[in-house]
Amino acid sequence: MVKAEGVHKSFGPVEVLKGIDLEVRTGEVFCLIGPSGSGKSTFLRCINHLEKINAGRLYVDGELVGYRQKGDKLYELKDSEVALKRRDIGMVFQRFNLFPHMTAVENVMEAPVQVKGVSKAQARERAMQLLERVGLGDKAGNYPSQLSGGQQQRVAIARALAMDPKLMLFDEPTSALDPELVGDVLDVMRDLAESGMTMIVVTHEMGFAREVGDSLVFMDGGVVVESGNPRQVLTDPQHERTKSFLSKVL
Ligand code: ATP
Ligand code: MG
Repeated sequence: MVKAEGVHKSFGPVEVLKGIDLEVRTGEVFCLIGPSGSGKSTFLRCINHLEKINAGRLYVDGELVGYRQKGDKLYELKDSEVALKRRDIGMVFQRFNLFPHMTAVENVMEAPVQVKGVSKAQARERAMQLLERVGLGDKAGNYPSQLSGGQQQRVAIARALAMDPKLMLFDEPTSALDPELVGDVLDVMRDLAESGMTMIVVTHEMGFAREVGDSLVFMDGGVVVESGNPRQVLTDPQHERTKSFLSKVL
């Protein structure tokens, strides 16, 4: 579903991704861990067309991200082409980013109506189903300010799912939450994983990575240091940098 080959990304003189190679298979839960500043969010943003890579190749579902290849040459995609491709990818951030002036159900309906031209009635029905699915059927009429952080994050997940993405990206979805609210969000993510969704999850929740993850990558300094089965990497890390990182977070 996602393939990175020597992906480089710099901001001015600062090289943040220094040649990322990895592959995310369809239907798997792929966990990404690593210290602050290692480039995890940047990598997710590259996958979701929010940043353009400088070198290497990045593919989603077999198609190049950000560029079109003709012969040996790469051409940047037009904004309209990028917008079309982004529809297929859902992203959930650390901060919930809900529209504050819209109720939960209106937040979930918004993109299908505005971007896909789905009728309001149809979008509302689907949004209600999605809110039920994340355990918030009874909060559909609440504004974000009337929801807890964990509830807002579950609305954000429902909102991403409303576009029927083939890939979901999660960037530390629980790290802004009070500890007692984390479990409900992880449960929703676990259900989603069981439904077969392909998910890339940047997280500090090692329990989730161990129990739900199919693969785990430890990134540091813009490179993949170690990867493998989550249980194996978490219990028997091979590299010093992985060991030292895990000793701080486990
Ligand atoms: P954290 O765990 O703290 O979220 P991260 O692994 O997600 O860290 P990134 O947010 O990808 O790290 O940032 C990696 C590096 O890239 C950091 O040094 C950051 O300052 C830099 N960086 C990220 N975005 C930009 C930008 N738009 N312009 C300049 N530098 C940036
Ligand atoms: Mg980050």
